[in-house]
Amino acid sequence: MSSERYPFSEIEAKWQGIWESSKQFRVDEDPSRPKFYCLEMFPYPSGRIHMGHVRVYAIGDLLARYKWMRGFNVLHPMGWDAFGLPAENAAIEHGVHPAIWTYENIDNMRAQLRKMGISYDWDREVTTCDPDYYKWEQLIFIRMLERGLAYRRRSTVNWCPSCQTVLANEQVEAGRCWRCDSEVTKRDIDGWFFKITAYAEELLAWCDRLPGWPERVMTMQRNWIGKSEGAEFDLPVAGRSGLALRIFTTRPDTAFGMTYAVLAPEHPLVDALLTDPAERAAVEQFRAEVARQSELERTAEDRPKRGLRLQAQVVNPFNGAAIPLFVADYVLMTYGTGAIMAVPGEDQRDWDFARQHELPIIETVKRPAGWRGEAYTGDGVKINSGFLDGLTITEAKRRAIDWLVQQGLGTAKINYRLRDWGISRQRYWGAPIPVVYCPVDGMVPEKEENLPVVLPEDVQLSGKGGSPLAEVASFVNTTCPRCGGRARRETDTMDTFVESSWYFLRYCSPHYDRGMVEPAAADYWMPVDQYIGGIEHAVLHLLYARFYTKVLRDLGLVKVDEPFQALLSQGMVIKDGAKMSKSKGNVVDPDDLIRTFGADTARLFSLFAAPPEKDLDWNEHGVEGASRFLNRVWRIVLQHAEEVRTALLLEIGGIETPPPIAPPARAGATARSSNSHSGGRTGGATISSSEGKVFRRTIHETIARVTEDIERDFHFNTAISAIMELVNALYTFEAGSPDLLPAGERAALLREAIETVVLLLGPFSPHVTEELWQQVGHTESLFKRPWPIADTAALARQEVTVVLQVDGKVRSRLTVEVDAVEARVQELALADDKVRPWLQGRAIERVVVVPNRLVNVVTRS
Ligand SMILES: [Zn+2]
Ligand SMILES: [Zn+2]
Repeated sequence: MSSERYPFSEIEAKWQGIWESSKQFRVDEDPSRPKFYCLEMFPYPSGRIHMGHVRVYAIGDLLARYKWMRGFNVLHPMGWDAFGLPAENAAIEHGVHPAIWTYENIDNMRAQLRKMGISYDWDREVTTCDPDYYKWEQLIFIRMLERGLAYRRRSTVNWCPSCQTVLANEQVEAGRCWRCDSEVTKRDIDGWFFKITAYAEELLAWCDRLPGWPERVMTMQRNWIGKSEGAEFDLPVAGRSGLALRIFTTRPDTAFGMTYAVLAPEHPLVDALLTDPAERAAVEQFRAEVARQSELERTAEDRPKRGLRLQAQVVNPFNGAAIPLFVADYVLMTYGTGAIMAVPGEDQRDWDFARQHELPIIETVKRPAGWRGEAYTGDGVKINSGFLDGLTITEAKRRAIDWLVQQGLGTAKINYRLRDWGISRQRYWGAPIPVVYCPVDGMVPEKEENLPVVLPEDVQLSGKGGSPLAEVASFVNTTCPRCGGRARRETDTMDTFVESSWYFLRYCSPHYDRGMVEPAAADYWMPVDQYIGGIEHAVLHLLYARFYTKVLRDLGLVKVDEPFQALLSQGMVIKDGAKMSKSKGNVVDPDDLIRTFGADTARLFSLFAAPPEKDLDWNEHGVEGASRFLNRVWRIVLQHAEEVRTALLLEIGGIETPPPIAPPARAGATARSSNSHSGGRTGGATISSSEGKVFRRTIHETIARVTEDIERDFHFNTAISAIMELVNALYTFEAGSPDLLPAGERAALLREAIETVVLLLGPFSPHVTEELWQQVGHTESLFKRPWPIADTAALARQEVTVVLQVDGKVRSRLTVEVDAVEARVQELALADDKVRPWLQGRAIERVVVVPNRLVNVVTRS
């Protein structure tokens, strides 16, 4: 067998050229056809694609091409998330302008992507740093401003000292910057916010209405939104009339178990409660220590909680008891009211803290028999709780809230953990925020006809802090849109996550110049049917995009409630046990891979090596295996190309006219296939031999398996295994003795098997299959050919009961397939439980098999 590789370089260049020049994957809205919008998260133009990109784009392209073959009108676009800090940092380090750096990187990456042969509609390419793009985002900003959905305020924000900018809560991971991993600090700063909290309830409700999303991502979003229902009420400060501490609790039923209360160290009431300089000094020091911790560290379950007891006490209104008051790190100013009642009996964090500070613990829910735990959060009957005793927790919650309302002490209250999205960045390379500050009119939005507010190119970037735009006089100094007087432009730019919150919408009509999106195009293409991208965006991009889409819906720009119908979150690409990264020195360059093995092999490997949601462990042998397999397909198809071509021609010549290529399906995944011949007929021949029927069943079982694996749960790796098995079966079949089969059967089956292998493998490795499709005589693209559909008649296994005899006496019966291979029937007969005892101690002389009727084992007497 030849170890020579097929000429992948020529083949890949050839078909990339043909697809490009024929504009095969360019699409328009076509209301007569079902649409499929397939989208991979667009990349940041860092300059080079990496194996993670190869993986996600291979998945997207597989689905896109598969859907083409199923008759869908497929939108599969690509673009660039082009604003962001790396460009600005490169400018500071190397003195190259961010725009030049970005567009050069885009050119490099586009060239790399083209070598992968992905079915993008390049006419729809979108680049977010283009003023024609961010212009619409500025318009929406003004609309949001008018509706109170964008606002400016001074607040304590997350500050990355290394990136020299504010970060949204979602962009702080375990106390560190999502982008550069620096420790995040706090800063009081004026900034712009998007009011995502106005959509908290709807964002949460839709978490239950997106079955195409991984449950893991929905859970992360639910937790991030963090809805809790409970009560808000006052704890009066003992001996200080008029001074009270407002607290929020989800468990008002446990109020009788309150043995202390806690304020967040930053709580504005703390200062009013301090009694002497010594206490003030202790609190100041405590605050300084807490300020060094991130929110995540402060609220982590498994770490000791730090607290400082104040001299002041508060009163539990439920029983009039005066209880100790603390400031403690585990209570955050940003959640609820920044103050809590502590019920150590039913809250583990309070329990830990109470044990540490030797505070009393009162149980207010009866524990189940044998309970040996600490805080109890389960169901039960109320105890030690005054008028709530004997009630269930649910009843007691309601009764406690009713009591608070009657007494005028509090109300029922819903709280969210979600905070508004801080979108202003004190950096240059982003979309300008379109407002000006006028000494007369105050803050005024830019006039619509003056948009876009273009980012000036002439800028000095030092990275020394402060918005670089503030130094650009030509930008800053402007006239007030309202009074025409001198005014100053806003110099913060927008978070780049604003651009990625709507790029999928822009792809629907990327050249439309009268608005963000052409309504008819948005109606046709939206929502995205399949979105593919990393889990790291679960509460970043994926939450922001959902929010922004709802805002656009309420502004009348789109009709959909949600941007992404289904989401596939692929795992990482790892090597030697770690994520591929430059710093770890374990990067595999896709260019090298494509040069050595071809894009088809790179894609096949990345789809075969792991199910998409799992991490993919890079290994050289896997790549070589994928390459060997494609060479194996190449050889057997070319060996029989002549035969297949002849078979194809003969059909056309009149033995049996194959059905024309099916018109695209009108709905769902019900595209018809030209392969749906009836029963045992294929390619114009009737299959009568049992060998032929078995092989044909293998072909159609493979079609069924591969289709099922792609459609359900994206099991691309097992789909590839199934195709590999069919190729093995094909080798076995063609090596078998040709004269065993009736005339015509062999040719018909070879053709059917070869075409099936090429069709099924197409979306995985499109270049080599397109070439082979042409080599066996087809003139139209493989990807215009309908996806094969398993012939149910070929799949059916008809069975018969065969009588088993030993020396002519019936001993047992066996159910086997009609026309089962004789050797197999004989083997089953000899292994039969009721036959074996009659053979014990005897030598078998011969076995007579009468097909479909009986097996007689003749022994030597
Ligand atoms: Zn940073
Ligand atoms: Zn003015």
